[in-house]
Amino acid sequence: MAQAQKITPRAKDFSEWYGDVIAQAQLADYSPVRGCMVIRPHGYRIWELMQRALDDMFRASGHRNAYFPLFIPMSFLAKEAEHVEGFAKEVALVTHTRLRATGKEGAGAIAVDPTSELEEPLVVRPTSETIIYAMFAKWIQSYRDLPLLLNQWCNVVRWELRTRLFLRTTEFLWQEGHTAHADEAGAEQEARLILGIYRRFAEEWMAMPVITGAKTESEKFAGALRTYAIEALMQDNKALQAGTSHNLGQNFAKAFNVQYQTASGGLEYAWNTSWGVSTRLIGGLIMTHSDDNGLVAPPQLAPVQVAIVPIWKTDEERNRLSVVGRQVKADLEKSGLRVEFDDRENMKPGAKYFEWEALGVPVRLEIGPRDLASSQVVLARRSGAKGPVALQSVTGSVTTALDEIQQALFAAARERREKNSIRGTTKGQFLEFMKGGGGFAYGGFCGSPTCEAEIKTQTNATIRVLPDPEFRSKEVPKQCMWCDALSIAEAVWAQAY
Ligand SMILES: [Zn+2]
Repeated sequence: MAQAQKITPRAKDFSEWYGDVIAQAQLADYSPVRGCMVIRPHGYRIWELMQRALDDMFRASGHRNAYFPLFIPMSFLAKEAEHVEGFAKEVALVTHTRLRATGKEGAGAIAVDPTSELEEPLVVRPTSETIIYAMFAKWIQSYRDLPLLLNQWCNVVRWELRTRLFLRTTEFLWQEGHTAHADEAGAEQEARLILGIYRRFAEEWMAMPVITGAKTESEKFAGALRTYAIEALMQDNKALQAGTSHNLGQNFAKAFNVQYQTASGGLEYAWNTSWGVSTRLIGGLIMTHSDDNGLVAPPQLAPVQVAIVPIWKTDEERNRLSVVGRQVKADLEKSGLRVEFDDRENMKPGAKYFEWEALGVPVRLEIGPRDLASSQVVLARRSGAKGPVALQSVTGSVTTALDEIQQALFAAARERREKNSIRGTTKGQFLEFMKGGGGFAYGGFCGSPTCEAEIKTQTNATIRVLPDPEFRSKEVPKQCMWCDALSIAEAVWAQAY
């Protein structure tokens, strides 16, 4: 049991647990640069699988990938007033282009060459609206050029003082979609379409249930008309904003002069959207499903879906099991599954089980000489359930098990979320709820930023979304949960990452 003890139980310290799961599953590590993370192969593989699924959905809905520069002229950021306000405090700047040798020893051997100062500093992109719309202004001339539907996969930098692997890092990986449309309806439809794609990805691939809805004025993206988001509830009852989709209106088109000629010969500003999900999703995946034994990866995104562990005593047994084990691996791979055959020597089967468990592998197949004699293998699920299956039909058994695990993870996460949600919340209930660990609190909202600010100061909770109809309570709240004024919308509050 030595290995399992390396993971701090969730009930003891959730934050420690989160770090331990990441370390044990070798997903990521802290880097020598403060605030930055190193994504290790097992973690990066999850990101690649996420990328592939999302990219397929973006392409199927008419989007194409492009790439824009990492550096953005500082003056670009100033062009949209709200945007600069939102990002000014966390940008990294490039001001010089050269170093020079000083002739000294050690750390002082090189220094910034003062003659290399840039006339205009460059911002390392915190997001790419400004540089992309500067290019759109060039490419969009006529209504025939619309809609323009682009996406880019890249890294961005937002200077953060506090680091939490995957959740909050100075540099992170993401995709940012940027589109231009002829009218408001086109942009609105696009923003909603992407929100639907994000939801489908969260639920069907990550097995992470989400609430969809609109952000309030104070929580929306800097420079957007409207921001939509998917919000998930983690096991510590904190909310995670897992993806956002913005209807930018004509704000950026006006700032960057993205104009087009209409069919009737007039001149109009385009309507834009932008939307993104990031490596933060990996943090969401970990905190939605994992347990005190380590990572639990939903089969759809598990880097290894099946680990085959042979159990032998003699060399002769090892050889026989090796032949069968490799055959099973090949058969499973033919069905598109990601499989490892673990015949490492000098390691007991139990130690291997712990390792695959910590790595989040959903299904383990154990084969010993006795199993072989009766033409069966033992199929063990990450959840602990275990039983023999016939060797002949092992592919079908594994596929069924993976499907069931995927469904069960989603159902369990949704049940947990609902158990930790309260509706028709009053102020008294709300204060108690937030003090007692929190969750999603549904209640009436008057629309006033003053109420939002007060609630944030007193409870650290924010409005995650004004939920879409599907998620709203049957009883529509009539009064603001906080100030008793007339409610303009039901809101979902939570403490958030
Ligand atoms: Zn109020």
